[in-house]
Amino acid sequence: MAELFSVINPATEKLIKEIPADDDTAITNKVKQARSAQPAWAARPLSDKIEAIKKFKDLLIEQADSLATTLTAETGKPITQSKNEILATPQRIDFFIENVAQVLAPQRVYQEPWQALPGTGQLEEIITHEPLGVVANISAWNYPYFVGTNVFIPALLTGNAVVYKPSEIAAMTGSAIATLLHEAGIPKDIFVPIIGTGLAGATLLEQPIDGVFFTGSYPTGQKIAMAVAPKLIKVQLELGGKDPAYVCDDAASVAAGLADGAFYNNGQSCCAVERIYVHTDIYDAFVDQFVQTVQGFKLGDPTDGETYLGPLSRKPQLSVIEQQLKDAVDKGAQVLVGGQPLDRPGWYFAPTVLTNVTHDMTVMREETFGPVIGIQRVGSDDEAVALMNDTDYGLTAAVYSSDRERAVKILSQVSSGSAYWNCCDRVSPRLPWTGRNHSGIGSTLSTLGISAFLKPRGWHLRGA
Ligand code: NAD
Repeated sequence: MAELFSVINPATEKLIKEIPADDDTAITNKVKQARSAQPAWAARPLSDKIEAIKKFKDLLIEQADSLATTLTAETGKPITQSKNEILATPQRIDFFIENVAQVLAPQRVYQEPWQALPGTGQLEEIITHEPLGVVANISAWNYPYFVGTNVFIPALLTGNAVVYKPSEIAAMTGSAIATLLHEAGIPKDIFVPIIGTGLAGATLLEQPIDGVFFTGSYPTGQKIAMAVAPKLIKVQLELGGKDPAYVCDDAASVAAGLADGAFYNNGQSCCAVERIYVHTDIYDAFVDQFVQTVQGFKLGDPTDGETYLGPLSRKPQLSVIEQQLKDAVDKGAQVLVGGQPLDRPGWYFAPTVLTNVTHDMTVMREETFGPVIGIQRVGSDDEAVALMNDTDYGLTAAVYSSDRERAVKILSQVSSGSAYWNCCDRVSPRLPWTGRNHSGIGSTLSTLGISAFLKPRGWHLRGA
């Protein structure tokens, strides 16, 4: 009998359901089926693939309410944020649909002038692209629609079969995504869900796959890279972050926007602002305004449309946060707001603002992935740059200033995949989503996130 895993509602701690996990035999068979079906899918005209993906987009919009209810039940994400995620996904899908043809088009990069070499034919050089084949997509729970579609939409449009392993914490959403794609016309052996925990993910990696596209934590990403290293296949890893923001002395009033960047989805975003550096000249005013904003956040039942902060999605994260806070307080941090779990059913942690923080504290250097922010005073741009770079991660970095040149100069010195001036916690389908250092390798989104699913071929063609 298949092993069962439990889906628990983080707001009530009650069992929603038990789901049977795919066992090793099922996973092996599913990958085999995907492999034999993939060439026919690749050969189908692009217009057929686009038509199915457009239908999927329409279904997402039509069913947004019920899909949001499922996502909120299993992850505790506030219902308005679940709906926002689902209803913002079509924009990304549109980007892929509009740009896939140009990425797939053969590119003539050189044509020799006629008879450049006497007695030889004319030389042409052309780049063409083919799908990777069968790709594994192992996904995270915090934004299953965003991080999923970033991978499986361009993978399918470019002719790949996708074996999709949603997180066990968003398994009901993962199954719903598969149902909608199949209903939209993607064949069942071309988009193949594998339901299970990390064990199912590990078994998937043992199969004959042609690429792995992973979204999740650095420790798991590292395991995945090591597991597939002997296969020499394409590996993309979108991992965690410890994203900094620096507020210069000439910044406008930005505390409310930054508080949203830090606490949206309970801080459980890869690009959540996790630490803030503020120029000493405006530090006190900034902290006052920031604290006021956080105190105004409505915390509670995630099914209530007014709730801004719900429970954490994973129970073990409560102790990670408590350990980081204990370490910080032991080393002299001051807790201005919050600081403890809430005494109520569900995995709730009070939104927490820390000052007097230093880089000796784990809370300023390691990913927290929860509703906690450290705010540190700095005396100069150089000091801010040094602190922003003092982490193993490199996903995003933000600078707030009225001077674009100053902000760009600061951001150019910080190692991060995305650079934000006067904004944060933002993703655009037109720009590559990419991490440096422990934040990962490769890119999704933008045209780079389409070509990621293709293998190029260089043609050297000399006429007779
Ligand atoms: P996780 O690493 O715990 O799990 C991610 C996925 O990997 C899940 O599907 C899980 O079942 C699977 N898995 C676990 N162990 C495995 C193994 N040994 N082999 C194969 N698969 C395995 O991450 P999570 O808790 O789901 O997500 C949170 C993390 O994801 C955070 O660090 C966050 O910053 C990061 N994240 C990054 C991005 C980005 O775009 N860079 C986006 C979203 C989330």
